[in-house]
Amino acid sequence: MSLLSPRISVVIPLYNEADNLADLHRELTASLQGLGQPYEVLLVDDGSRDGSLERLLAIEAADPRVRVLRLRRNFGQTAAFSAGFDHVRGEIVITSDGDLQNDPADIPKLVAKLDEGYDMVCGWRKERRDPFSRRLPSWFANRIISAATGVHLHDYGCSLKAIRSEVVKGLRLYGEMHRFIPAVASWMGVTLAEVPVNHRPRTRGRSKYGLGRTVRVMLDLFTVKFLLAYGTRPAHLFGLWGLASGGLGFLILAYLAYIRLFEDTAIAGRPLLLLGALLFLTGLFMVGLGLVAEMLVRIYHESQGKPTYVVRELTPPAAARERERARPVR
Ligand code: UDP
Ligand code: MG
Repeated sequence: MSLLSPRISVVIPLYNEADNLADLHRELTASLQGLGQPYEVLLVDDGSRDGSLERLLAIEAADPRVRVLRLRRNFGQTAAFSAGFDHVRGEIVITSDGDLQNDPADIPKLVAKLDEGYDMVCGWRKERRDPFSRRLPSWFANRIISAATGVHLHDYGCSLKAIRSEVVKGLRLYGEMHRFIPAVASWMGVTLAEVPVNHRPRTRGRSKYGLGRTVRVMLDLFTVKFLLAYGTRPAHLFGLWGLASGGLGFLILAYLAYIRLFEDTAIAGRPLLLLGALLFLTGLFMVGLGLVAEMLVRIYHESQGKPTYVVRELTPPAAARERERARPVR
């Protein structure tokens, strides 16, 4: 098995998981060796302070397929995934939690599904082993995310996924957004599949999250939804509402001006005046905001040379293909 060019890269973020590392490495090795394809394991130490690092380095020293990526401080799970993505070398990226709640034995199943031709295969923790206080908000969150993003999955929170590396390399993740990887990637036109995976209770170490995460996830959902729908054309959203509000305000003000000027009616004390002025100004600001947002989008795309589309492939002209075929194989 070549160590130089792994086909599979496993990325695992770790924050204070010292007691899980030995079993994690053992289970990963068993599962990946069973698969019989060259692989690497990228263990991302997200600023652990419980001695995880020493154990990680010991594992790395003993196993040439393991690489440890050490972040300078605790940046959070999403950033740790991003860091890992920037350093993977394989064609297929497997993501997983490192607390053994995800079962490495499921990896071959994900890879097999991906090899059917999908761009991303997401794990679905059909029987989730977390306390009810965690499962309930997740249940709601999953339904809201499904409805809002139009990317329909059962389980957005499951870290265990298999993704083609060209998809991963194009992702930019912020906040708590690793759970929106399928939604963010849907912008690129990826094909998605979902497979049920094993889930186990956490036996060692502590969960890093509480209820506060639900709120953060919902806020991130706004961002994702907005970027997906209007990321390259914000003026359409702001402009539409701005025109509606401004137009209504204008009509109201025109009416009030008419009765004041031609029917000599007093309008100063009328609530309608306030409403009209408010709608008109709001509309004006919204249109302006839309234009500013348009400029930001252009700066974003043009300064970074980022196109507003993603190419899957450009078929070469027929002649070039012929020549390619006629070339003697060496
Ligand atoms: N994690 C991380 N950085 C953080 C928080 C968590 O790298 O700031 C890792 C953690 O070590 C684990 C995974 O992310 O491997 C999932 O975390 P956890 O098990 O606490 O989440 P839960 O399963 O409770 O949702
Ligand atoms: Mg966990």
